[in-house]
Amino acid sequence: MITCDLAVIGAGPGGYVASIRAAQLGLRVVCIEKESALGGTCLRIGCIPSKALLESSEHFHRTQTDLARHGVLVQGVALDLAAMMKRKTQVVAALTQGVAGLFKKNKIERLQGAARIAGKDGERWQVAVGDEQVSAKWVLIATGSEPAALPGIVLDGDLIGTSTEALSYPSVPKHLVVIGAGVIGLELGSVWRRLGAKVTVLEYADRILPSLDRDVSEAAKKVFVKQGIEFRLGVRVTAATASAGLGHVAFEANGTRQELSCDRVLVAVGRTPHTAGLGLVEAGVELDTRGRIVTRDHFATTATGIFAIGDVIAGPMLAHKAEDEGMACAERLATGYGHVDYTTIAAVVYTDPEIATVGASQEDLIARGIAFKVGSFPFMANGRARAMGSTDGFVKILADAASDRVLGAAIVGPHASELIAEVATAMAFGASSEDIARTCHAHPTLSEAVREAALAVDGRAIHA
Ligand code: FAD
Ligand code: NAD
Repeated sequence: MITCDLAVIGAGPGGYVASIRAAQLGLRVVCIEKESALGGTCLRIGCIPSKALLESSEHFHRTQTDLARHGVLVQGVALDLAAMMKRKTQVVAALTQGVAGLFKKNKIERLQGAARIAGKDGERWQVAVGDEQVSAKWVLIATGSEPAALPGIVLDGDLIGTSTEALSYPSVPKHLVVIGAGVIGLELGSVWRRLGAKVTVLEYADRILPSLDRDVSEAAKKVFVKQGIEFRLGVRVTAATASAGLGHVAFEANGTRQELSCDRVLVAVGRTPHTAGLGLVEAGVELDTRGRIVTRDHFATTATGIFAIGDVIAGPMLAHKAEDEGMACAERLATGYGHVDYTTIAAVVYTDPEIATVGASQEDLIARGIAFKVGSFPFMANGRARAMGSTDGFVKILADAASDRVLGAAIVGPHASELIAEVATAMAFGASSEDIARTCHAHPTLSEAVREAALAVDGRAIHA
């Protein structure tokens, strides 16, 4: 029997960050992870390997298509996919081992195995991990999510697979069919398109990335189409099967049944919370209609002493959201204070161009009846973007019509993932668009486009 203050189940960005923060604050922490490597979906089969492949595939693609116009002539460009995959594996290994090092440094006890909440002994929860038993004052569930299933589709872990398989295809597919034009479909579709696959994306909604504003989604789609990705929008996929070494995807479009054959299918239609086998019903932990753990006051579940964070609860399924919840939950347990500002959590699609948003979208504000002003500025008019040769896209800032407080922003363009942090920070400080507009930005930088969009809120952009 191991006795501790906090038993954390799952060592993804939610669970491992909560463990470290709780240990920093003096709690005795045991973190239980079923996989041999720490880091969860994000480090092992999500954010990190996908970004490693996005980076490598972009080098390959740009070397082939972009260098000549910079006056750099390269001959005999060839792909060594095995080397690209090896590098990805090394990046993942370095980071997962880094988390193991942080656990040691912070004296967090690590148990490997699938955890199940086995019941209560007085005020303490008992968590079973194989033959081992952990007795904890508090339990934190951070078990994350797994790919959502689609009726009619049987994943075979090979021709018909999820992001996990698409991060490790042994060769470049001739034709990859992606189901879902969401974040995973576009990121991994981009990777394989850049490496030479024909990529067809089938999407149920009438636009890609349907949760974003239409102008954002359409600007991005225009560039993806130029890159050779094919989209079939407004179609409902009904089945995917594998036979004779090919994948066959059936879908309904304009009331007719159609079929595509390909050599790989990537199913990317969302993710569902991972709650099976945890003993939640017996412990009194309620789930909502979408299978997420219900949390009320600051990550508390319906069972006293059990908390939950990250992909397994409501909210965007993002690593940094899980991390922030992990820190806030640990701080509340140890000190009584801890907070997540959900209005400033940015979301990024790491394609080319990158797409980054924070706060409210324009369509949100219209639906909520909030009066707003909008300022927009194209990268085409930004000196640095011109020098880089990356002029697709724009910055859009939304500000409250009466107070001028920044309510949200969307950026489509180069390094949007980094640029959005300025707007998120400004929002965290309750800034107005005027505050951003009056801040001197270095020249020539992409961040000047953010300032110009802020100036445009008041109709006074200089370069457009
Ligand atoms: P997870 O990271 O899923 O970790 C949960 C852990 O719990 C896992 O390690 C699991 O093995 C373990 N576990 C589950 N059940 C048990 C049990 N019973 N006992 C013990 N251990 C258990 N987000 C971003 O913000 N940026 C990105 O660029 C990004 N890219 C992504 C790319 C892909 C391909 C995918 C699939 C996801 C991506 N995400 C990205 C989403 C991100 O990975 C998740 O939001 C994040 O990992 C959630 O963190 P978490 O700690 O809640 O859960
Ligand atoms: P998603 O929710 O982003 O996109 C799923 C898409 O599939 C939607 O556009 C939906 O309309 C479509 N779809 C659903 N059913 C369909 C059907 N029958 N036929 C055709 N299309 C259908 O989900 P995802 O791309 O699988 O990503 C899962 C989660 O992982 C997301 O919540 C995301 O936040 C997270 N993630 C984040 C990043 C990032 O932050 N860069 C990267 C990858 C994944």
